[in-house]
Amino acid sequence: MTDPAAIASNLAAVKARIAAACARAGRDPASVSLVAVSKTHPAEAVQAALAAGQHLFGENRVQEAAAKFPALRPAHPAMRLHLIGALQTNKARDAVRVADVIESLDRPKLAAALAEAMRKEGRAPTVLVQVNTGDEPQKAGVPRAEASAFLRACQEEHGLSITGLMCIPPVEADPRPHFAFLAELAARHGLATLSMGMSGDFEAAIEMGATHVRVGTAIFGSRPYPAA
Ligand SMILES: *Cc1c(COP(=O)(O)O)cnc(C)c1O
Repeated sequence: MTDPAAIASNLAAVKARIAAACARAGRDPASVSLVAVSKTHPAEAVQAALAAGQHLFGENRVQEAAAKFPALRPAHPAMRLHLIGALQTNKARDAVRVADVIESLDRPKLAAALAEAMRKEGRAPTVLVQVNTGDEPQKAGVPRAEASAFLRACQEEHGLSITGLMCIPPVEADPRPHFAFLAELAARHGLATLSMGMSGDFEAAIEMGATHVRVGTAIFGSRPYPAA
């Protein structure tokens, strides 16, 4: 969907729901950032959101992000791009070039590739570790039991400064125990950023401490083709 009026009103509605969830949880709405997930939607949709005052965006494919976002940067210096999708090691350099935040670090090889790409590019996006809180075999993210050791290895072996955690709970499950697990793990490691909550569950995520919610469908409508 690219209708600017519809995108603006959807954004306003999502922000109102975020504010209401914050009020219920006794949280400051300024403590929750909205990442507008624009994957599969054209640059015109991103432009409509920018015009409505939205500056944080999420994409799950490096090539798609690289095709849409660099051209928008000069006119929108406050814009920030989060990469939220599974990342191949051979895309690490492109990811470091295009992203301001990489939310999907989940394995040692990728940690090494990102660290090397950052040295080569002289650019250091913020990095979050994705945790597979449901330990689902098909899903990206570090398994629950390995998360603590992986977090230590990122810092100690790869010199990567990890600032937070991200998760995508299993589709059919109550997301709350997953959000609680992520929040507890972050607290234990002194990590301030918690990226959790999507169109279907962002209010629950805010209740459980999310600092970033990633919302696509509720802003841009259903996706024109499936995003891998
Ligand atoms: C697509 C996607 C979202 C947004 O999902 P919606 O249900 O459309 O809000 C959030 N996070 C990740 C990692 C995604 O891939």
